[in-house]
Amino acid sequence: MTDHPARKQDQAKLLVALQDLDHMIRDAEDAKTAAKMQEMGFTMDGIAEIKKARVELTEHIKPQLLNRYQRVSQNYERIVVPVVKDLCTGCFAKVATSFRYEKTAVVTCESCGRILYFT
Ligand SMILES: [Zn+2]
Repeated sequence: MTDHPARKQDQAKLLVALQDLDHMIRDAEDAKTAAKMQEMGFTMDGIAEIKKARVELTEHIKPQLLNRYQRVSQNYERIVVPVVKDLCTGCFAKVATSFRYEKTAVVTCESCGRILYFT
């Protein structure tokens, strides 16, 4: 089976979604934010749903990408960042020009290690 470019782009989208879910889980589990959310009428039952969605999402992400995601998450809050004007928006290092021709691939910033995607 060949690696179709569209599928690679899908992987980047899934990683971004995973990051969003992780931020939601982290916020929900933070006592201060949780109290505020409850004040606004949100119940904590939502977290279980989010965690379930996270498990389902990870089933569609390639294991090697998940590993990379977990590794980067130990160092940075923002793990998956877009490339804007050839710069990594995590550390603002210039992204190798060879990546420019691989817009559909999921690549890693050589400077900070974050996962990059092209918009
Ligand atoms: Zn970077």
